[in-house]
Amino acid sequence: MCNCIFCKIIAGEIPSAKVYEDDKVLAIKDINPQAPVHVLVMPKKHMSSLLAMDSSNAEDVTAVMSAITKIAADMGISEENGMRVINNCGPDGAQSVMHLHFHLLAGRKLGETIV
Ligand code: 5GP
Ligand code: ZN
Repeated sequence: MCNCIFCKIIAGEIPSAKVYEDDKVLAIKDINPQAPVHVLVMPKKHMSSLLAMDSSNAEDVTAVMSAITKIAADMGISEENGMRVINNCGPDGAQSVMHLHFHLLAGRKLGETIV
């Protein structure tokens, strides 16, 4: 049985605030938001991180990127205001949930620091 918290959210076993869903992608509000908009965008198919991307899941990763663009447009994010998309990958990248996800942060002017 999968013990991944995001797989449990995708399966509806753990509640979440859904922002967007299609056949390949789920996007939810982060439980601990770091900006007025803080959405986690993930493939429904479990993969641990971008380092696990291969020909078997490349379509799912592409679908996540397309979903980010759609979600941004739905939220009024444009090239005028902008956003930040972050992917923490593995131990040195401080990834805490080992199910690939991208953080979409927006809604205020973010700082320049990324480390
Ligand atoms: P990471 O550090 O792996 O890049 O980010 C994991 C993110 O998942 C964190 O920002 C954390 O707040 C969020 N998170 C952890 N558990 C839950 C949860 O049960 N629900 C939601 N919505 N977000 C979660
Ligand atoms: Zn998972």
